[in-house]
Amino acid sequence: MSWNNTVTCSYCRERGHNRRGCSDLKEEVERRRARGGDDDWFVAQYDERVAVAKARRAQRTCSFCQGEGHDRRKCADLTARIADMHRKNLLFRSAFLNYVHELGLGPGTILGYRRWTDGDQIGVVPYMVKNIDWKVVNWHTRRDYGSKPLITSLMSNLTESWHLPLPLLEGCLLRDVYRATFLTKSLTVLSPSGGTVTPPTGWLQADKVKYKKALKPYTKWDYDGGHAF
Ligand SMILES: [Zn+2]
Ligand SMILES: [Zn+2]
Repeated sequence: MSWNNTVTCSYCRERGHNRRGCSDLKEEVERRRARGGDDDWFVAQYDERVAVAKARRAQRTCSFCQGEGHDRRKCADLTARIADMHRKNLLFRSAFLNYVHELGLGPGTILGYRRWTDGDQIGVVPYMVKNIDWKVVNWHTRRDYGSKPLITSLMSNLTESWHLPLPLLEGCLLRDVYRATFLTKSLTVLSPSGGTVTPPTGWLQADKVKYKKALKPYTKWDYDGGHAF
């Protein structure tokens, strides 16, 4: 029995379990059933409670698949979609890494960002890549406006950090296959880093990602219809 557990049984008054899980109660019911059969008032009341709880479980509707008799925690359809997300994320992350290598992106890469300058003109402003924000790179967040994977600094002020999207190369898998939104024609590589970046351990396996949490607001139909991600 756990001393941290504050549940108190309404039958035996012991802590750590409730009436439904009370072995004293179950023993008493079976003792009375053996003696007086199912008609014993105590036995009948117990059986009635069990039947009501069972009926309530059966009526429960799953918010993911609208199926009855289970909730999201035990939904086989949800489990299948999580596996699908994981599979897609594996491919996405591997494509992302190839793309970053192709661009020569890594700490020290100099990028030119074509944007409005302080002088109120369009110009190319140089930025230096400090790192890649690996955790925002996911198949299911590829269209989130806030998921910009590059951590950079202005060359003119290396102390502040800015998140930037990635330069877009024509024929890029990430755009053509995945329609990722963190790619822009406004950025170009002025000077590659020369080195090869390596993601953190486990990043390519993508199995620590919170897929279930990401799916929380959605139903099976949102997901299958491509309306979730
Ligand atoms: Zn008890
Ligand atoms: Zn379900």
